[in-house]
This record gives sequence, C-alpha cells and structure tokens, in this order.
Amino acid sequence: MNTFFIEFRDPLFGIIIFFVLIFIITFFSYWLARFKKKEDYRHLDRFLKQFSTLPSKNELKVLITKGELSEKSWILLAHSYTKNGNFEKSIEIYNELLKVGDKANYRDTLFLLGKTYFKAGFLERARQIFLEMLKNNPRTPQALNYLLLIYEHMRDYSSALDILEPLDELKKDIKIDSAYLKSMLLLNDLDISTETKVNELLEIYKSTNRLTYLTFEYIFRVNPKVAWKNFDNSKVELLVDILWNIDKKDLNFDIIMQNSYLRELYTAKGYIQEADKSSTFELDVLINLNKSVNATLSFEYICDSCKQVYPFAFNRCSTCHSIDTSRVELSLTKDYHKDFSEENNSFQ
Ligand SMILES: [Zn+2]
Repeated sequence: MNTFFIEFRDPLFGIIIFFVLIFIITFFSYWLARFKKKEDYRHLDRFLKQFSTLPSKNELKVLITKGELSEKSWILLAHSYTKNGNFEKSIEIYNELLKVGDKANYRDTLFLLGKTYFKAGFLERARQIFLEMLKNNPRTPQALNYLLLIYEHMRDYSSALDILEPLDELKKDIKIDSAYLKSMLLLNDLDISTETKVNELLEIYKSTNRLTYLTFEYIFRVNPKVAWKNFDNSKVELLVDILWNIDKKDLNFDIIMQNSYLRELYTAKGYIQEADKSSTFELDVLINLNKSVNATLSFEYICDSCKQVYPFAFNRCSTCHSIDTSRVELSLTKDYHKDFSEENNSFQ
C-alpha cells in the first residue's frame, strides 16, 4: 500500500510540487491577462461611445464653463460643426462662449454666430446680430457685407442698396453690387412694365458692361427682338445656354450668319447647315454626328472666383458671394426630350 504514496522527503515530491506551482501560476496569469484584455475593450467601447452621440446643450454648457479647453479650441470645434452642416451645435457653442468667454473676443464670436445664423437660413436672427455689432462698431465692413447679403436674401433690395453708402465711405468698391442690386430691385418690382424694365436694365448693362447673363436672360425671355438688337457678339460664349434654348421662330438669322460661333451653335442644334466643323469639341461632335443619334448639349456653371460648380445658372455665387462670375461649361448628353417626344408620337 505504501508504494502508492511518496514520502515527504522523497525528491520526487519536490518536483511534483514545483510543477503544480508552475501550473497554478500559469493558470492565474492567463486568466488575469484575459480579464485585463476584456476590461481594455470595455474601456475603449466606453471611450468611443462618447463620440457617437453629440453632447447635449447642458453638457456643452458644463464643458465650456469648466474652461478645460481654450476658447480657440471651442471655436475650431464650432467651425467643424458648421462645415458638416450641424449648425445647431455650432450656434449653441457660440452662444455659450458669448456668455462665459473672454470679453476681448466677444465681437469676433458675435460675428461668427451671425455668419452661422445666415448659413443656417435664420435670416432675421442673423440680421439682429449684425445690427447689434454695427451699433457698437459701425465701421465693420465684414458685418456690413453680411447685412447686405441678408437683405438680398430677404428680397429687400432697397435696404441692401442703403448698406452700400457706408461701404462706399469705407472706400470699398461698390460698383458691381450697386448695378446688381438696382437690376434685382427693377426685376422684382411688380408695378413697373416689362418695356420699362428692359430699357432700364439695358441702361445699367451699358453703363457697367457687366451683368450680361442677368440682363440678356430676362430680355431674351420677354422680348427676343430687343435682345438681338442689343446683342454683343463678344459675349456670345457667356450666353451659350440661353442661345441654345431660344425657339427657332425667335432667332435673328442676319446676326447669326455674321458670327462664326453662332453659325456653329445653330448648325449643331440642327436649325441651319452653315458649318461643317467647330473648334469647340462639343459643337464639332454634334455637327458631324448622325442626326438620328439622340445627343444634345447640357450645361453646368463654374464660379470663376472660387471654382465651385453648380448645375444651375447664378448671378451671385452662393459660396464666395461674388457677382457675375458664372462661366458656362458645355458637355454632351442624351437628348431625353427627343426620346420623350418620339415616344409620344408613337402613341398617336
Ligand atoms: Zn464663387
């Protein structure tokens, strides 16, 4: 029986104890490492969760009041919220900074708040902010510029024109703004006849030699004869989309025959056969294309000042706020209108 037991003093007993100890230590260190790893993941989950939800208004208030982040960091954060279109959070930050922030930065923060209200479309609130700024610092051209844009968006062109006076006193160039706002005031006045509008628009256009698109888009729409009479051949490429869409009955072939670009344009359209090639790639393709192929021109509009591309024509760029900087770009596309009219004819 004794052969199954190992004596206490037996060297084999020591070796067994040694291996048992190694096993226990390995076992515990394995479980400790596993537990720690799990805790790490949980900590990371808790950390990342903070960023998946935005801080509430009260959380922001506490965070800003604590002063752990500098005012500049908060402004940078608000700016990135604005960039991502989250105007609400950005406005909350600016409002809180105005309450607890450094008084030396009050005017700058107020300006940023007004700008964000304007971008978010809260025009009345933005107007109040800029008026408050100008009450204390009337010689602030940036605030005057925004106030002008706000009135323009509100279609209150007379008030927008009033802003030009202090801007002029600050030696800012107001020539194009003045011509543009006068033209917009004219076009939106329901009491003025179309004929008067056409004459006065032409007067503004001739005095500045700008606003070609705004002027001719309106005149070609209401009185193509007058538009052709005052047509400037050097501006033809600025108006290519308007010219492309004019009804055939409203064309002035005497003028078209004198201008090579117009001859190419209307040959590409299929109205005349007066050009066999063009230096403009899109027109050249259309001139030499089999007429049974459904292809036409499409247009997009690039701001010459900030290079922003728009699918529609504009007189003032909504990104950089420059006036009369739109440039038309041509491209070839499928003629859906032709498809549609052919389908309709097949049902008759
Ligand atoms: Zn622009």
